[in-house]
Amino acid sequence: MTVTPDRPAPSAAASSEPTITDRFVEANRVYAQTFRDGGMDARPVQKVTVVACMDARLDLFAALGLDLGDAHIIRNAGGVVTDDTIRSLTISQRALGTRSVVLIHHTGCGLLGLTEDFRRELELEVGQRPQWAVESFVDLDGDVRQSMTRVRTSPFLLHKDDVRGFVFDVHTGLLREIV
Ligand SMILES: [Zn+2]
Repeated sequence: MTVTPDRPAPSAAASSEPTITDRFVEANRVYAQTFRDGGMDARPVQKVTVVACMDARLDLFAALGLDLGDAHIIRNAGGVVTDDTIRSLTISQRALGTRSVVLIHHTGCGLLGLTEDFRRELELEVGQRPQWAVESFVDLDGDVRQSMTRVRTSPFLLHKDDVRGFVFDVHTGLLREIV
């Protein structure tokens, strides 16, 4: 559904409570009123890709001092380096000029409590085993190292000399580098 900025969102006008998506549409209408096209290129200014967990407490732009247009951000559950992460990294480097990779996991990650039993339970429930691994982990630092290794050993990437990994502390806001 397309909602033009100068028209109110249909659901918001109805008597029922607006959903979160209705609120997004309204917020976007306000955003677009002051939005100015900076004429930015699709190539990230800082030539960097950040791979991070999707955790809702992680504000990457604020935590890393990023501005709009600075970086590619790839996020998934855990910030793990899957085949699809490598797909995006490959496009980021080969088509859009990035050179550095920063990996960010964090304390209190939802994946820390999961095991691969999650897949078996899913299979029992729906009768189909997912093709993807859960990529759960018990050792945060070890998983950051594993992710760095996956990036550094990928045959598809052009630039593997500047790959660094961190754990973000959700209580202090500080990054701790994993070496
Ligand atoms: Zn997480």
